Amino acid sequence: MAVNSAKLIEIINLIADDINANKEFLTELDSAIGDADHGINMSKGFKAVTEKISAMADKDCGSILKTTGMTLVSTVGGASGPLYGTAFMRAGQVVGNKTELNYDDLLVILEAALAGIKMRGKAEKGEKTIVDALEPAVEVLRSSSSVDAKLFEKAVEAAKDGVEYTKGIIAKKGRASYLGERSIGHQDPGATSTYIILAAIHKALNEKSS
Ligand code: ADP
Ligand code: MG
Repeated sequence: MAVNSAKLIEIINLIADDINANKEFLTELDSAIGDADHGINMSKGFKAVTEKISAMADKDCGSILKTTGMTLVSTVGGASGPLYGTAFMRAGQVVGNKTELNYDDLLVILEAALAGIKMRGKAEKGEKTIVDALEPAVEVLRSSSSVDAKLFEKAVEAAKDGVEYTKGIIAKKGRASYLGERSIGHQDPGATSTYIILAAIHKALNEKSS
């Protein structure tokens, strides 16, 4: 895989499409344990991102990721805006002025994203958040000396398992934590959007470049 700036923009556009396609679903999940805005927040944010980055194909990958992060921070309401925004901004920092990315960069990007989310949200695994989907995926990628398409597929599966896991646990962070034990039985919206993002990246990387 070689992802240049144009392909990176394509990947982010695909993330935006899949988030938008799941807008109602994410909002429905958030209506059970939150305030019913996660799908609306995320879809609005990624729509703004696609507009902001559309003319950035001549810029480096770090700038595209940083612009994505800054746009999410400024357009996504709720807890998830600063969290996802920080994730993309951190990813942009580690990528720097590279104009092409490979699977090993993907590990570095997702590690930086996870570190950013944990720094900002102070969540650990098992608290029913984004971390429950993202950390297992990063752990899979870290488990081998080099990352390839097959390993990334396993990482996406691990994120999906992480989403399932959130159904059985109590929310300790964010709005859902106000519900205490009543948050059990519901899948976490943020973990779900993280899985959707990772699955979209996987899909985009396995498509022929247009
Ligand atoms: P809000 O809860 O402010 O309405 P959203 O509905 O957009 O924001 O996002 C809710 C999601 O944010 C939750 O499902 C959870 O996954 C994630 N979240 C909340 N707090 C944290 C945190 N401290 N760390 C990681 N993720 C969090
Ligand atoms: Mg909400």
